[in-house]
Amino acid sequence: MSEINRAVKGTNDILPADSYKWQFVEGKMIETARMFGYEEIRVPVFEHTEVFKRSVGDTTDVVQKEMYTFDDKGGRSITLRPELTAGVVRSAIEKGLVNSALPQKVCYIGGCYRYEKPQAGRLREFHQFGVECMGAPSPNADAEVIMLAKQVLDSVGIEKISLEINSIGCPECRKNYQAALKKYFSDNIDTLCGTCKERLDRNPMRILDCKSPVCSDLAKDAPVVIDYLCDDCEAHFEGVKSHLDAAGVEYTVNPHIVRGLDYYTRTVFEFVSGDIGAQSTVCGGGRYDGLIAQMGGPSVPSLGFGMGIERLMLVLQAQNTELPMVQKCDLYIATMGDAAALKATELCYNLRNDGFKVQTDIVGRGLKAQMKFADKIGAAYTMVLGDSEIEAATAKLKNMQTGEEIAIGLNNLSDELFAALNKASLDALIEVLD
Ligand code: ATP
Ligand code: MG
Repeated sequence: MSEINRAVKGTNDILPADSYKWQFVEGKMIETARMFGYEEIRVPVFEHTEVFKRSVGDTTDVVQKEMYTFDDKGGRSITLRPELTAGVVRSAIEKGLVNSALPQKVCYIGGCYRYEKPQAGRLREFHQFGVECMGAPSPNADAEVIMLAKQVLDSVGIEKISLEINSIGCPECRKNYQAALKKYFSDNIDTLCGTCKERLDRNPMRILDCKSPVCSDLAKDAPVVIDYLCDDCEAHFEGVKSHLDAAGVEYTVNPHIVRGLDYYTRTVFEFVSGDIGAQSTVCGGGRYDGLIAQMGGPSVPSLGFGMGIERLMLVLQAQNTELPMVQKCDLYIATMGDAAALKATELCYNLRNDGFKVQTDIVGRGLKAQMKFADKIGAAYTMVLGDSEIEAATAKLKNMQTGEEIAIGLNNLSDELFAALNKASLDALIEVLD
């Protein structure tokens, strides 16, 4: 196959047969976020490269290895967003959100781009749902954001997923920790991968997140940051746990979570599934108290998370969760002859204006083939239109599920169809209840 009919490695098409799943899931995400007071923000797919270098961090895998960076024709260095927090924060500072009433609560859905080795649950173009809560320093904000993620997962029918939390402290308490880490890894420097050897001096915590087997093996016995928290960070973490306890949200404290992006402080968390293999983190997030100031804005303690939608879909698939399909076609109007085709055009136009999903033949098929097609697209009702139906201004509406036919007036089609669809769904409901 040549390049013109082959998708770029690590990208996916969402085909019409599956898009209803994405629409359902994305709808639940926005709807759930709104219950917590979050409104959608849309930011560009690309930003100045510096936006990501500054926020995600120079020593992270994302910045060091994974970004799609290029010079545009004006000579600017541009990067396709590897995540959305950086762009959202850039926007919140530039457009003054962080100077207005706090907290500012925003959510987003969008594509992310990372040059990674494609495998199950790891793509080069993937999609994230996420939220940012800007200007909320209290531990109950952390609990609220975590609960939002949990409720999104619940709302789409995810059943088995565990919440793991940790605190990675503030820059103050991290000083002692970094020193302890440096000592631990320096004693084992020969075992580290090349990238981590370089990280040792500048940012030893990054080694804890390295995917290379030797480094992650070594990381298992490294000192954990939770043992080095200052009193304030300790109290904050206790607060987060009490608020989660108050809501009855289950979690485990995993002292090994550090997250792959540099901007995190204090609380970090992940939702992990046992059903989807190695790429098991469906959602990751945490607090980033210093980020907005670091990006040139006011000092506004904030937090958020990013949820990988493809990984979420893999969990749903692994758990055999059926997502609700929408009725694609309320009525298919089959036609015989030119006059009927003209009449169908008129009826379809009016019915669609009234909010019905209707189709008619636009291929030039014979009646039998039209009915076959109506069946194939799952039309709830069909109606055959010929010269005699037009003359009598009545036609037969056929329920494709039951085969039942009723005569209806063409001049009153909207009301008749409305009544028929309602009756059909009521009958279906009664059958379920029986
Ligand atoms: P991982 O450790 O799996 O590489 P990460 O720490 O790089 O994840 P984040 O930057 O925190 O991930 O992104 C948040 C979420 O986005 C992840 O938990 C995951 O669900 C999803 N995600 C990240 N990278 C990819 C990818 N390449 N393909 C698909 N989903 C991804
Ligand atoms: Mg990663």
